[in-house]
Amino acid sequence: MLTLRGHHLICLHFFSGEGYDVLFIENLRDGIKRAESEEIEVVSGDDNICAKCSYLKGHKCMHDEKADGEIREMDDTALKLLNLSAGQRVKWQAVKERIPGIFHEWHNKYCDDCDWKQACEKSDLYREMKMR
Ligand code: SF4
Repeated sequence: MLTLRGHHLICLHFFSGEGYDVLFIENLRDGIKRAESEEIEVVSGDDNICAKCSYLKGHKCMHDEKADGEIREMDDTALKLLNLSAGQRVKWQAVKERIPGIFHEWHNKYCDDCDWKQACEKSDLYREMKMR
């Protein structure tokens, strides 16, 4: 079963083909494809997307020294907004349906300072959410 952490349950909806490297991008595409057809297990900490990230070291994000704590805080916020908790099983479509209702709060809190903002802005859904 595909595992996804909190912030991936939101941010992956806006994937536009960009990522850290080829392996990571391929895994993102595969993860999204699987999410559309499989049940998803919500997890706390690293998930199937993190598994192919070169910054993951011993279950921690080592992108920079504060990254792991910051990302875990994002996960907690994402799960609260989506009304989910680790251990639950969800369908991608059910998560997607909750995005319009939570997008503005998420965007106001995280998107302006995010390294991936320019990539997300290439996504039709992201632009649509911003205009709502
Ligand atoms: S800009 Fe960053 S925080 Fe906002 S949806 Fe995209 S990846 Fe997530």
